[in-house]
Amino acid sequence: LTTRLRPFTSTIFAEITELARRTGAVNLGQGFPDTDGPAGMLRVAQDAIGRGVNQYPPGAGEPDLRATIAEHRRDRYGIEHDPEGEVLVTVGATEALTAAMLALVEPGDEVLLVEPYYDSYPVAVAMAGGVRRTAALRQGPDHRFELDLDSLRAAVGPRTRALVLNSPHNPTGTVFTDAELAAIAEVCREHDVIAITDEVYEHLLYDGREHHPLAALPGMAERTLSISSVGKSFSATGWKIGWVCGPAELVAAVRAAKQFLTFVGGAPFQPAVAHALRHERPWVEELRTDLQRKRDHLAAGLADAGFDVLASEGTYFICTDVRPLGFDDGAEFCRALPERVGVAAIPVQVFCDDPAGTRHLVRFAFCKRDEVLDEAVQRLRKLR
Ligand code: PMP
Ligand code: GLN
Repeated sequence: LTTRLRPFTSTIFAEITELARRTGAVNLGQGFPDTDGPAGMLRVAQDAIGRGVNQYPPGAGEPDLRATIAEHRRDRYGIEHDPEGEVLVTVGATEALTAAMLALVEPGDEVLLVEPYYDSYPVAVAMAGGVRRTAALRQGPDHRFELDLDSLRAAVGPRTRALVLNSPHNPTGTVFTDAELAAIAEVCREHDVIAITDEVYEHLLYDGREHHPLAALPGMAERTLSISSVGKSFSATGWKIGWVCGPAELVAAVRAAKQFLTFVGGAPFQPAVAHALRHERPWVEELRTDLQRKRDHLAAGLADAGFDVLASEGTYFICTDVRPLGFDDGAEFCRALPERVGVAAIPVQVFCDDPAGTRHLVRFAFCKRDEVLDEAVQRLRKLR
């Protein structure tokens, strides 16, 4: 294994999911739902297979899917993309992110991440030979994580090529405020930085919050690659259909890398995703209401079991402080938890270069059936 990949041999999700499997634990670690997406969408995929949509799709993605992605961005956010050249279909958001790094980052270029960061970002930076710098989200007085603007300004410099923004944010559940987005946009404009936005949770915001894409801010459309995917919005994390939208020049660069990573992917799923984006908005609204209820339900159960529960404004996740239960290291806690009480969760510190501020935090996924959440809480009560 190369030195650049040696720090990343196993993902925390694989490790904890394997541990959960071995011990029969209730898995609130890896974020995936345990119910299916909209029936209409599933039917379109099945029909597509039956109709023989089983060979390589066009390199940029099915034209109808690209048109639907552009429509969706226009209708939801007022952002215009030409489906010819400004929209590229990828194998999940993960490929879009990695291809963007490979396409845009020269060896030695710096890429700014916000920590805690999603686990694939530092690896994508390393694959491209880039150097990561981090700005920090810190736990504020009201239990919400907020962007430390000083750390953002300190991390940006003349070699900064790109910045990755994930809002709603995994693992904290934070939705960046308009003020935080404005500060990020200002840094990008001032230092001529490309923004790569990971918007896979764009529809999973709670308590009436609305998603505001960074690309909609002044001066950002021409420097932003906006990435999303089907997995979270339509409960189909295994389909791995993603997309990236942005200025033609940047999207062409991503496409140059993407074509030699996977070439294309997921032919029969592409018409199904187009169907979902076009017709399943009411289904997504129901999902959002349901997930908000599940968040509140799990939060109450966790608080009752003795955790200090932090605010979650979006995503599948809620973070907790394990110190009131007498533990101070979330990683040790999570590695012992499946054996000890039969529940799996994810430590937050593994998503940080400087784990000091998040050592005591543990992430739980609430995108599960109520009886699964109840069983987990029942088991966690034994920690007391
Ligand atoms: N970004 C974030 C923040 C995620 O949580 C995930 C995981 N589901 C991904 C990207 C990966 O998305 P996809 O499955 O579409 O590759
Ligand atoms: N996005 C999921 C999570 O954060 C995991 C995806 C994966 O296993 N790579 O839990």
